[in-house]
Amino acid sequence: MIYHTLTIKEALAKLNVSPETGLTSSEAKRRLMQYGPNELKAKKPQPLLFRFLSQFADFMILVLMAAALISFLVSYLRGEADYIDPIIIFTIIILNASIGVIQESKAEKSLEALKKLTAPTAYVLRDGIPSIIPARELVPGDVLLLETGQYVPADARLLTAVNLKVDEASLTGESHPVEKQASATFTETQPLAERFNMLYSSSIITYGRGTALITATGMHTEVGHIARLILEDKTPPTPLQKRLAKTGKVLGLAALFICALIFICGTLEGRPIFDMFMTSVSLAVAAIPEGLPAIVTIMLSLGVERMARKNSVIRKLPAVETLGSATVICSDKTGTLTQNKMTVTHLASADGEEIIPDGKSASISATGRFLLTLAASCSDATVQFSGTDTIITGDPTEAALVLAAEQSGISKSQLELTTPRIDEIPFDSVKKRMTTIHKTDTGGYLAITKGAPDLLLSACTLCYSQGREVPLTPALLRAIQKENQTMADQSLRVLAIAYKKSTTKPAHPEKDLVFTGLVGMIDPPRPEAREAVHTCKLAGITPVMITGDHIRTALAIGKSLGIASDSREAISGAKLEKMSDSELLSSIENYHIFARVSPAHKVRIVKAFQAKGNVVAMTGDGVNDAPALKAADIGCAMGITGTDVAKNAADMILTDDNFATIIAAVREGRGIYDNIRKSIHFLLSSNVGEILTIFASILLNFPTPLLAVQLLWINLVTDSLPAISLGCEPPDEAIMCRRPNDPKKGMFADGLGLRILLEGLFIGFLALSAFLIGTRFLPGKSLTLGRTMCFCVLGLSQLFHSFNMRSSRSLFSIGLLSNKKLLLSFFICFALQAAVISIPAFAAVFKVLPLSFAQWSICLFLSFLPIPVMELQKYRN
Ligand code: ATP
Repeated sequence: MIYHTLTIKEALAKLNVSPETGLTSSEAKRRLMQYGPNELKAKKPQPLLFRFLSQFADFMILVLMAAALISFLVSYLRGEADYIDPIIIFTIIILNASIGVIQESKAEKSLEALKKLTAPTAYVLRDGIPSIIPARELVPGDVLLLETGQYVPADARLLTAVNLKVDEASLTGESHPVEKQASATFTETQPLAERFNMLYSSSIITYGRGTALITATGMHTEVGHIARLILEDKTPPTPLQKRLAKTGKVLGLAALFICALIFICGTLEGRPIFDMFMTSVSLAVAAIPEGLPAIVTIMLSLGVERMARKNSVIRKLPAVETLGSATVICSDKTGTLTQNKMTVTHLASADGEEIIPDGKSASISATGRFLLTLAASCSDATVQFSGTDTIITGDPTEAALVLAAEQSGISKSQLELTTPRIDEIPFDSVKKRMTTIHKTDTGGYLAITKGAPDLLLSACTLCYSQGREVPLTPALLRAIQKENQTMADQSLRVLAIAYKKSTTKPAHPEKDLVFTGLVGMIDPPRPEAREAVHTCKLAGITPVMITGDHIRTALAIGKSLGIASDSREAISGAKLEKMSDSELLSSIENYHIFARVSPAHKVRIVKAFQAKGNVVAMTGDGVNDAPALKAADIGCAMGITGTDVAKNAADMILTDDNFATIIAAVREGRGIYDNIRKSIHFLLSSNVGEILTIFASILLNFPTPLLAVQLLWINLVTDSLPAISLGCEPPDEAIMCRRPNDPKKGMFADGLGLRILLEGLFIGFLALSAFLIGTRFLPGKSLTLGRTMCFCVLGLSQLFHSFNMRSSRSLFSIGLLSNKKLLLSFFICFALQAAVISIPAFAAVFKVLPLSFAQWSICLFLSFLPIPVMELQKYRN
């Protein structure tokens, strides 16, 4: 349907809807069935079989399969009909691939669930009530309520538009916002970019507000026509995953080299070539940490799920790692550090100041009433009293003004009738003011402007005093400025109110204004913010406040929260503007409060901190904050007050808009990074143990202590569960008492590489000792007994060793039971290992013997040793 050719009335009639009430819920439901959800069709998920098969597309798995095939052929050619080895190898590979598929889909599901949390919503009229619904439930005929910063969720015909400007670059390529008009109609052939009465899905409202009637949804929209198939955006690997993939390759090559060496040494020693081949291949597979990238993905997704439960929704996976390295957190003040619950407490006109105790303004002077009348008229918020409840909608600053007016008997709905608004200039975060134009009951015009006093006063030439307009003399101006500062010093947000009367609609409504007075409102700090600021500092992170408010208001609140202690730590946007880049760079770290800044300053602030080597987190909510959110290492958008644009630009969304949530997220981020390191530590020290056992036995000319299938079993089955369970380790108590992770430091920094080597050496030593005891010293000694004991000790010692990974502190101080998943993994793996050895059918397959009580005791004793040894070492540190 070509809605741009229709008038508003025709469009409404066509879609059979009233602009006052919108659709009824039942009608919307019916239309949803008829038209389908408002979604662009995404790529179909890959079938399970494909995902299963893609697990085999790994070099080492292919090598292993080739080895199994060779083993099968050799057995066949020799006429031995002993196919146990290849069967087991294949079984283990299939088991491994199945676990891989299950874990990958789990990780994917949790990321999918997260995407749903951040799925777009739309503001519509349903059953006559403005409601927020998921954008996918929109249907043709829905009446959309549009605000700055929103994405247009479907194609729509405008019904009303107040200074509405829309960025349609994603559709038309036009980079300048287009001004829209509701009343226009166009011919059928009007190009898309010039249909000014229409809105198209995926464009952005950059300015103004309005209402619109949805005409097409989902694949029927213009974007749907262009992109018949939108590809799923795949999550790119995080820096850590990339680094690990690289490390994995290096380790893999090193392992292959060692295997080749073992193969050559073994054959030179006269061992059967085929046996050596199988041992080398399985060793290669055992040594290469091919499970690492998968484990990192699983841990990241587990962590991300946990963070979502704590109000921080991660949109881009790398943010989890970056969080742990954050050194500066730049936070908005209003709503993030403070509660964004504004209450008017002070009024000041040229005639003097009035205090409003507890926000009750019933008994104020006539000038005070006039001030509140103007303030309420120039606000979009609404306040309704229903019994004992007060229902407030709109911006809290404006809600405070309307509430104060209502409490002194000034009804906003009455004002809307007597002095109806005919035009407006919406709030602008650079000019920090807004203006409304009203028709008065005497037929004239009244323009009202409210905004930041320091900026608005320069537009005033007169002053309202004792019912008269008098010139704004320098003395009066100084007195007003002084009053503004006094209020700001008490942590108050101060707005100046001014007006301009005229007989015709004013051409310049924001010029030559009559200053009427100041309104001061309190916005108490969030109770948890002080503690969070303290934790932030303890953790080596500098908290920085960025606000549009007056420098004195900002400083007063900053001091009360512990962000700053001296006025030299605060700077205003105006001063910042005058600084050159090099000046800013040399002084940026001296400032902890940036006041009266506009969104453009935020980018400069982020870049300057980054140039000093900082990893910067930055919060934001408005459309203009998007560049700063993108520039920051961790862009955090507000979940409640944030616009779609800010959310889309951010790496993370704070669902409760709270500063303390960022700190909690940093804590989680550090914990996840620690746990990934623990898993890597565990897996690699186990692998090194396995390599060294085999390598040493060859150097010492012992028979092969472990068979290929035994090595594979340990590596692919009993190692992986504890490695994943280490991801559930709760963050260390002292995690926020240490410096942020240095992103330049590699995974193996701080002696981790050496520790892995030494621990591997120890595990190898224990396994080899068990082998020697079984082959040489015990009654009933035999090669099979030696191998059984070696297999048992290698498997179990790694299981015990997994507990050592939990913390750099003693196991007893962190509590043996505090990671229940690891305990469970331990028991499962222990049971599996015991089953393989003790159940005759399995024992035959793995070529092991059931052990006696005494033999078990020796194995258990040796396997347990890593715990006391590591405890001793931890104690020494
Ligand atoms: P923060 O950055 O701390 O979250 P903010 O984003 O709320 O602060 P702005 O909304 O840009 O900061 O407000 C800055 C200044 O603009 C305020 O100090 C006030 O003087 C003025 N102001 C805020 N809201 C309005 C409004 N609705 N109408 C007119 N002026 C306003």
